Formats: sequence, structure tokens, C-alpha cells
Amino acid sequence: MPHLIFNDSFINGEFYHTEKHFSVDDPTTQQSIVTVSDIDEDGVNKAINAAHGAFVKLKATNATTRSEVLMRWYELVMQHKKALAELMTKEQGKPLKEAQGEVDYGAGFIKWYAEQAKRSYGDVIPATDDNHRLTSFKQPIGVVAGITPWNFPIAMVTRKVAPAYAAGCSFVLKPSEHTPLCALALAYLADQAGFEKGAFNVLLSENAKMVGEILTESNTVRKFTFTGSTGVGKQLLTQCASTIKRTSMELGGNAPFIIFDNADLDEAITGLMGAKFRNAGQTCVAANRIFVQRSILDKVLKKLAVQVAALKVGNGIAEDTDIGPLIYPKAKQKVQELVADAITKGASVIGDDKDLGGNFQAPLILTGVTSAMDIYHQEVFGPVASIIPFDEEAEVLAMANDVPYGLAAYFYSQDIKQIYRVSEALEYGMVGINEGLISNPVAPFGGVKQSGLGREGGHQGLDEYLEEKYVCMKI
Ligand code: ADP
Repeated sequence: MPHLIFNDSFINGEFYHTEKHFSVDDPTTQQSIVTVSDIDEDGVNKAINAAHGAFVKLKATNATTRSEVLMRWYELVMQHKKALAELMTKEQGKPLKEAQGEVDYGAGFIKWYAEQAKRSYGDVIPATDDNHRLTSFKQPIGVVAGITPWNFPIAMVTRKVAPAYAAGCSFVLKPSEHTPLCALALAYLADQAGFEKGAFNVLLSENAKMVGEILTESNTVRKFTFTGSTGVGKQLLTQCASTIKRTSMELGGNAPFIIFDNADLDEAITGLMGAKFRNAGQTCVAANRIFVQRSILDKVLKKLAVQVAALKVGNGIAEDTDIGPLIYPKAKQKVQELVADAITKGASVIGDDKDLGGNFQAPLILTGVTSAMDIYHQEVFGPVASIIPFDEEAEVLAMANDVPYGLAAYFYSQDIKQIYRVSEALEYGMVGINEGLISNPVAPFGGVKQSGLGREGGHQGLDEYLEEKYVCMKI
């Protein structure tokens, strides 16, 4: 059993027990890892009050002190990398090597914002009147509430909490009920690192709707940040309107991955394997529609089939596992329904589509996918690569952009003029050119259209937690 497992919500620097419980299940075995207590309304309000108390203290601290606390948190997370990675594989299912990568990536946000904490500069504005002195400076927004998903149980938390703390904000987090253990471990380590009591509270609940309503409707909470599905994001945005909160929304995607005929095919296949099959395809930036120029289609399919056949599906703890289980039975059912719909409408399968039992889904390639199929329009969130042939650049750009989402897009080309044209034409917040893995703490992650609002990472990620105050002084 990994270390750092806790069973209760964490409020004001202490574990908060309630009588009602729910089970956190291991997606690999479908057995319970542990039962945890389910927060009640009173607990949610206590967490908001605790965060408010912490904010009063935090806004009086200087940036260097906050930076030092964050750096200690970073060091503690890295010291516990092995236990955190094992815990993540246990509750989320991803292969241990990916979990270790996520601890590094997640900790990277803490380190980056420890550095950025010292750089929230303001402006001196040239006056329009001889007797005026104009300045603007940045202040923390206040109490932040956040809701995070299960696919990146550490990174989705650190990339919100670290910039919030760097800015001087306190935080109330509701992690996914499927992966609350990593979030609790992070809060415990933050407390050890010197976070003020109440600066980082974690609420465990199966009743996301109840917690979400209290957090979004509270006047004390001044900023709401969410990562999850577009449907839930829209609902939470509506709820936030009641108190005009600042919001950040990291929502769904439907990433195109385009391989042009002049691409380096081996590099393109390597990039595609990462962009498609990482975390068993359960990422919002996963390649969802793979467009291949018709003249290279056969070659691409041959190379891809070899790589996909070599993927090892199994328990993520085993060193040679490439693909772990999907998160829960409903996720597998959805993947199978999308595949069945595509086959009924004319797609063909490459790969062995046998049922591997439990939450395990065999990796597959679907050829002949068209816009008539559900899999073209929805995030498959599973290890299924949908291949769509195209002839012309203009045609593929039209198809790539013809969705309501705009998170990540990828393309492989060696033609410099095409690289400029296509990267400018793609209506997406992030574009990978000859690269399938683009997330990085130092760069702004986020989407356009119905993929969301705001950016996480980079210097932009700190501004999400700061208000700008303009000061006009007459002398
Ligand atoms: P997924 O289907 O990938 O789990 P969701 O958008 O349903 O994505 O979940 C992301 C997060 O949103 C989770 O923490 C979940 O508990 C939470 N959530 C789901 N429904 C609601 C809701 N109605 N109000 C507030 N939070 C919600």
C-alpha cells in the first residue's frame, strides 16, 4: 500500500471527519482502496471561512516569503515522488512511469510559481495632467474555489493552487471523487511546507452538485477555477454569474492531429502514439481526429498498426505496462458505444477488439471515420485512434476547425510555408508542430471557443489570480 493516504477532508490545517462515507476504488482491480468521509454543507462553509481567515493573513505577506513556502512544498513533493506516483497509479490507473512523469510535471508548476511569485509587477502610467501621478498594481483576488477532474490528479491541482498561493490567494478545492487521495496528500505536504492554516483546504465529496453550488454562490469566494467537461463547465459558469466571480475554465477538446504528405512519418507516428495513447487516451488534449493525407495513408496505417499492436495493456504498477485501465465501467462503455456506432456507419477496425475484462480497453485503430459518426464529434477519452483521410490543405483545415472546441491541435509538416499557414489558421489555443506532447509549466495552457476561458501555466497563469488596481493621485 502506498504511503500518504488520508481519509478525511482537510480544513484549516486539520483533517475534518464526517459520518457519511464513500469508497475510492482502484480502477485496475475495481476493489475499494479506502473509504473516505463525505463532506457536509457545514464543512463546505467552514472551509470557505477558514480560507477567508487565511486570506487576511496571506495578503499581508510579502512575495518572497510566499515564494520560499512554495519552494519548500516543491521540495517535499519531489522527496515523496515515489509514494505519490504509486498512489496515483492506484487511484487513477495510469502506468507508473506516466505517474512519475506527472509528479515531475505537477511539481514543475509549484517551482515555476515559486519563481513567478516575485514578478507580479505593476505599471507607472505617463500622466495626462501635470498634477496627476498614475500607477496600477496587482493584488490577490481573494478566496479561490476550484474543482478538478480525475485524469491528472496532481498536475490539475498544482497548476491552480500554486499560482493562487503565489498571488496571495487562499484555496478551497474539491478534487474528483474518483481521485481525492493525491489531492489530500498534496494538501498535507503543503501544510508541512508552511502554508498558513486554511490556505489550502480539500473537500471530499460524492455530491459534487451540492459542493459546487455552495462554492459558486458564496460571496466570499471571489474566483472560481474549473477543469472538466464542457457541460459541467457551462453549468458552473452560469452559477458563478450570480456573484460575478472571475472564472477560469479548462474544458473539453476534440484535437485534430494532421499528418501532411511531406512529414517525417516516423516522427509523426512517435508523436501520435504519445498524443493518442498517453493515459489510455484520457486527456483533454488527446488526438481525437487523426487526419492523414491520402497519398501516405497506407504507409501511416502500416507503421501505426505495428506500434499499436506492441502496446501492453495491464496493471499500471508493472514496469512494462503502456496502457492501464479506464477510470470506471461507464468510461469503457462509452468508448465501446462510440466504436460500435462508427462500425455501423462504415468504419473498419485494425487491432484485436476482444474484451480484456474489467475496465481494460484494447487499443484500436478505426479507419474510414467520417463526420457522420459520433466518434468524430465527441472526445473518445479512450485508446482508439480514428483515422480520416484528406486530399487538400484547405479541406483539412476546414474539417479541423469545424467543431465547437478549440483546445489543442497538432500537425506534422516539413514545409516551412505550410507550417506558418496552418499554425495561423488552426482555431485552437495550443498548437504542436512536429511534436505530440506540448504541456509545460512555463507556457500558457488553455483553449478557445467552448474549450474554455483563461490560461494555466506561464506568466499568464499568475494573472488569473490577481486583480489590477489603478491609482490616480493628485499632487
Ligand atoms: P468527468 O466526466 O471527466 O469526470 P466532469 O466534468 O463530470 O468530468 O467532472 C470534473 C469535476 O467536476 C469532478 O470533480 C466532478 O466531481 C465535478 N462535477 C461534476 N458535476 C458537477 C456539478 N454539477 N457541479 C459541480 N461539480 C461537478
